[in-house]
Amino acid sequence: MRKGSVEKVIEVFGIGKAQDFLTIKDFMNQSSVTDVELREFLRKKKEEAESARKKRLSTRHAWERLAPKCPECGAPLALRRIDIPAGRGNEKGYLSQWFCLAADCVYERYSTMSAVEQLKRYGLYKGGA
Ligand SMILES: [Zn+2]
Repeated sequence: MRKGSVEKVIEVFGIGKAQDFLTIKDFMNQSSVTDVELREFLRKKKEEAESARKKRLSTRHAWERLAPKCPECGAPLALRRIDIPAGRGNEKGYLSQWFCLAADCVYERYSTMSAVEQLKRYGLYKGGA
């Protein structure tokens, strides 16, 4: 081992991470988990996360193409279900809310139609029944 190499590890990662590394390494040894298995697991998780991210982006882009547009700025609107029961806090019994996705626009429109009814109205409903 090169002289000063432990200090270099501590300098780069800090004492806390070095301690965590040893704790993890000891646990892996006790559990018979190899570095290769851990690397493969982490690679798969990273791949899954990237795939999920791409799917979310694709869904969002599809939504932005099809969604009704904001009457004030033209950006796509998003739909939110309102779960607050009619009464205090929701006096008009609203069931859904359209709101503008543009960062600098505050347009919103409440409705007594459910979110599913709204989606069906705009041909955006993909669920069953
Ligand atoms: Zn807008």
